[in-house]
Amino acid sequence: MSKIYNVGIIGGGISGSVTALQLAQYGIDNILFEQGESLVNGPPFCHLHAGGNLYPDISIEQCKQLMRQSIEMARLFPQSIDERPTFISVPKSENLDVNAIEDKLKLLANYYQELVDEDASNEVLGNPANYYKVYTHEDLVSLAKQATVKRPKSHDEWMANAIKYIDYEKLKMPVFLVEEYGWNLFRVAAQAQLALTKAKECTLQTNTKVTNIRDVRGQNLDYNWEISTKDAVYKVKYLVNSSGYNTANVDEYLQLNANRLIEYKAAYISKWHSIPGLIPEMIFHGERGSTHGMAQLTPYNNDYYQIHGMTKDITLFDNGLIQSKEDVSPAEFDPAIQQKLARKWNQKEIDERTQSAIRYTSQYVPSFKSATVGGPPLHGAQQIPGDDPNRRVGEVCFPCESYARSEIVKASSALTVAMQIIQKMQEENIIPAFQSNAKQNALLDSISKTEIDNLASELASQRGYPGSLSRLLIKRE
Ligand SMILES: Cc1cc2nc3c(=O)[nH]c(=O)nc-3n(C[C@H](O)[C@H](O)[C@H](O)COP(=O)(O)OP(=O)(O)OC[C@H]3O[C@@H](n4cnc5c(N)ncnc54)[C@H](O)[C@@H]3O)c2cc1C
Repeated sequence: MSKIYNVGIIGGGISGSVTALQLAQYGIDNILFEQGESLVNGPPFCHLHAGGNLYPDISIEQCKQLMRQSIEMARLFPQSIDERPTFISVPKSENLDVNAIEDKLKLLANYYQELVDEDASNEVLGNPANYYKVYTHEDLVSLAKQATVKRPKSHDEWMANAIKYIDYEKLKMPVFLVEEYGWNLFRVAAQAQLALTKAKECTLQTNTKVTNIRDVRGQNLDYNWEISTKDAVYKVKYLVNSSGYNTANVDEYLQLNANRLIEYKAAYISKWHSIPGLIPEMIFHGERGSTHGMAQLTPYNNDYYQIHGMTKDITLFDNGLIQSKEDVSPAEFDPAIQQKLARKWNQKEIDERTQSAIRYTSQYVPSFKSATVGGPPLHGAQQIPGDDPNRRVGEVCFPCESYARSEIVKASSALTVAMQIIQKMQEENIIPAFQSNAKQNALLDSISKTEIDNLASELASQRGYPGSLSRLLIKRE
């Protein structure tokens, strides 16, 4: 008789990979199907949303959730975290109230302190008293005269380095520095892939697309689902759908559906001239989807920068947001977006959109106009459960027995989802009850920095990006 697995996971993005890792950590055998060549190769991520400060329009509750989840992920994947702060500002042309940002930051700093009081190992964003710092116009004038430091250590040093490049007369005062860090997706991918390849409890099936699922729950067998691929049928007791923006396709096999939005977005890779000291990530807020949406400049190693501009000719796209409704076949993107999703961007559009992104950023960072195209865009589609496009925390739902559908909106929710699935499996008696320490994973810890460095660089090149994108700005030991 062929093997019966406790869990079958469809999709090896961050959600499916972290679920497989947590299951393996507790000795629960699972099989992970990923149609692509390697893990964590879907929509990108670059920012650890440890406080949701890129989203002034979301509730403090969502901000706190993002902070808690981000801290958990930083504890699991420390080698992927780039410990440089984020500069947050509001241009004078925007309606947004800077005082509201400051009020939120105070609440978040208190919440971070609570998390550290709960567990000292949560202190991954530095001392809670230094979670953020507020800068007035006067402060900036004075810091602009301070010498540049190659490797800034204090908020003032980071700000002194950055402010020399920023046209701060265009910004409302005050501006802020906050301990929201960079998050390197190539390094997460490498660490997850290395750990799952080693894990004896996980059967890792890359290059393997799931083509059908049969529900055999009513047949009194020792398993509940048959998962088909081109070459074989696998028996599993519990099914996890973590197929990202394709969750609706998997639901269709089960004749289930739900309301959800799917959004396609892209960020652009540029190369700038060398500058003498490290600078923070820079955020210039704006109304999403308008011609003056947020600009985000993310520094990478070796003078590469990633740019988001929340306008339709940069990060967002006409017809880039589609909606699937319950009881209706999954919605599909138009052919132009489908072509991009298939990684067939045409070079002219890469150049035009990257150059638009560079021009857009140089409104606030004038000398950045000399930057050039540095590689193909980092792009992809993600699902948002329900019908609120501003939702930033999604989790998991259990539409029927022995089935979980992961619906994360930010990569940081992956561990929360994994633990909710494990709890549900215990409630359904698929696996025995056990005490867990979700924030530790011996499998991930067993992977060395050198192994991560090597595979992360290989994955970046395999995927067509400069190898430097797999390196951190601030090396960790
Ligand atoms: C431009 C952009 C920037 C972003 N920036 C950030 C950020 O800075 N920080 C952040 O936290 N989040 C960010 N996000 C969101 C983040 O990328 C997603 O929330 C996250 O990657 C989703 O992970 P996932 O595992 O749910 O889905 P995915 O990564 O999409 O994984 C699903 C996997 O399932 C596989 N699959 C699908 N169907 C099948 C099948 N039938 N058989 C086998 N395999 C299958 C796919 O190949 C894919 O690998 C960003 C998103 C975009 C688009």
